[in-house]
Amino acid sequence: MNIILFGPPGAGKGTQADNIVKNFNLHKVSTGDLLREEINKKTPFGDEIKAKIDKGSLVSDELIVNLIVQILSNKKFYNKLVFDGYPRNLNQATNLDILLKKYNQKISCVLSLKVDKNVVVKRILGRQTCIKCGLIFNQYFKPSTKENHFCGNQFLEKRSDDNEKIILNRFQTYLDITLPIIKYYKKLNILHEINGEAEIEQIYKEISAIIASLET
Ligand code: AMP
Repeated sequence: MNIILFGPPGAGKGTQADNIVKNFNLHKVSTGDLLREEINKKTPFGDEIKAKIDKGSLVSDELIVNLIVQILSNKKFYNKLVFDGYPRNLNQATNLDILLKKYNQKISCVLSLKVDKNVVVKRILGRQTCIKCGLIFNQYFKPSTKENHFCGNQFLEKRSDDNEKIILNRFQTYLDITLPIIKYYKKLNILHEINGEAEIEQIYKEISAIIASLET
């Protein structure tokens, strides 16, 4: 099955995607992570991508389509994907449907995490990512400890776009451009809305129950 995790920046999509991937043997596709990899690899598009990300606006749909085609066409990931941060606008959503048809796949459900702007800001300001294993922590809400993280705290980094000014731009981009997609998935009858302000474990409990109900 393929799943879309939907919600504003800082809603906890990445954290929940990590949980889902681990327990349901799926593969996470975070377009944000893929774009940051492009920047680190210093590809020809790296500078263009960095400029957009550092402003809190979206990168071009063409760039994103290329990344998604590489994943959808890979047999290793066939019907095993958890999309985190994609699609981000209506054009990407309709394009994804075309690509899914082409590669004989479908989306089983869209899990929308609802979180208020103030909570998002607080969460993003505490966010830390391990550059070694990719796991996401939060210095206030989910600190890295010896029990939940084996790489060590020296590998924890903050993202360059996780500062207060850019967060507000990213949230506005979400409201103006990304949120309208919700109507599209509501019409397709595959949307599940979840309170993203609950505890991480509680949210995951709800998510895993939805996924389990789809499997049977
Ligand atoms: P994220 O890691 O999902 O918070 O994404 C970080 C940044 O990458 C966003 O603010 C956008 O600039 C860019 N980005 C990520 N995913 C997409 C996408 N699907 N379409 C356009 N831009 C994206």
